[in-house]
Amino acid sequence: MGIAAIAGRSFKVFGFPALIVMLSMLLFGRAFCGHICPMGATVDFIDKGVAKRPGTFSARTKTVRFVFLAALVVSAVFGMNFSYGLSPLSLSTRFYGLVILPMAALISGLALDVFRPLARMLGWQSAVFAQVATPVFPTQLFLVAFFAGLVFLARFRTRFFCRFLCPAGALFSIFARKPLLSRRIADSCTGCGKCARACPMAAIPVKEPSKTLYYDCILCGKCEKLCPTNAVSFGFKAGEKKSAEPENPSRRRILAVAVAGTAAAVLPAVSNSEAGAPGASHIPVRPPGSVPEDEFLARCARCGLCMAACSTNTLRPLWLEAGVAGLFSPGLNTKIARCDPKCTRCGHACPTGAIRPLSNEERPWVKIGTAKITKENCLAWAGKKACMTCDEVCPYDAIKFFHPKGHPIAVPRVKSSSCAGCGACESACPVKTTPAIRVTSEDAVRLSSGSYKEVARDRGYDLDLAWQNRKKENPDAMTVDGIAPGFDP
Ligand code: SF4
Repeated sequence: MGIAAIAGRSFKVFGFPALIVMLSMLLFGRAFCGHICPMGATVDFIDKGVAKRPGTFSARTKTVRFVFLAALVVSAVFGMNFSYGLSPLSLSTRFYGLVILPMAALISGLALDVFRPLARMLGWQSAVFAQVATPVFPTQLFLVAFFAGLVFLARFRTRFFCRFLCPAGALFSIFARKPLLSRRIADSCTGCGKCARACPMAAIPVKEPSKTLYYDCILCGKCEKLCPTNAVSFGFKAGEKKSAEPENPSRRRILAVAVAGTAAAVLPAVSNSEAGAPGASHIPVRPPGSVPEDEFLARCARCGLCMAACSTNTLRPLWLEAGVAGLFSPGLNTKIARCDPKCTRCGHACPTGAIRPLSNEERPWVKIGTAKITKENCLAWAGKKACMTCDEVCPYDAIKFFHPKGHPIAVPRVKSSSCAGCGACESACPVKTTPAIRVTSEDAVRLSSGSYKEVARDRGYDLDLAWQNRKKENPDAMTVDGIAPGFDP
């Protein structure tokens, strides 16, 4: 959140929650990591299955997470948000939303198939015809590989991600040096070291188990449960509070941190010369309500919640289509499915404001792009075959047919002022490999604030979906001077 606040220059949206979490570090130490963070819970779950030993305290390896943190901060100062790479919240929501949820859908679908014959016998019609769609996302395998890597690393150290990789943990450890709520040791401590050997964060020095590295202690309470003399407790006042000396980073380590941070800031500049990064000419088709591209890339945490919420599974994480800066950001693949002009789910799911939550009234007026016809692929244009699929499915009536001179049949064109870029035409186009009609981000309306309806009207866009629906319900209104729908009078 803090990185998004710096990169997006939006302290109002992200700065406040980030500040609350930081303040909680002063009071409760890293209890957030031990009890709230979903990634921490995931890592604990993995550790239960495979971790062999907590491993000992090593100052050098712990520096790695500071390198990541510095890299993120430097790039955020330059307006780039790369926190999605290792942010625990972003990683875990992406993993659960884009991998676990589809897996659950797949399993439910299979279970339904097994149950269907019985449902048929019992006459349970709703179960007989019920279907569970399994959403598919391009980065699923990557996420599986990443978490498989964590499973592998858990064999060497407990809480490996938190201790060595997590940039949020690095930032928290700066604030949690002397928290009010902390581990306390009573005089009954015999120094047996049982707690130090079991601490998943290696926050207890093995040679001095009565001390605590507060900045690494996640207040999991494992030491308290294990202590044979009940010498360990957690509280604001009880017992004596002893801290271990924090390690001081060497100059070489500080230099490495600075170099890594600068390198991360330079990366996007390289990618800008490629497609889609801020300032580049090609911008992918973004979800309805997306703020302007530069702001979008800075705000988007790549949490995947919008994609998990998408009702048609058209919203998917991008690889490098939008450059390095746009990695894993959501883009529409309208070849696979349309973006429902009545659906507002993605904006309401987005926690960072990269996609604005839209009202039902505003939603149909959002122009996310414009459809373009490739004549060489079109059955009517190139194949001289009577095909009107795009016209039949277009909810905005943006496809118009006309008779070019010397051409035997009517051919389609897109009335761009009526096209919202929903992609109904592209997903329905019978030319499957290279559809004859593709949605591009051209003329997309991207607003940080204000009404889409008003802007669309100001620009002369005819995106009144309600009127189109009324027209379809009334067959008389479908013909103009006796000419069939879709044909220009
Ligand atoms: S647009 Fe919003 S919901 Fe979608 S990935 Fe980015 S931050 Fe998450």
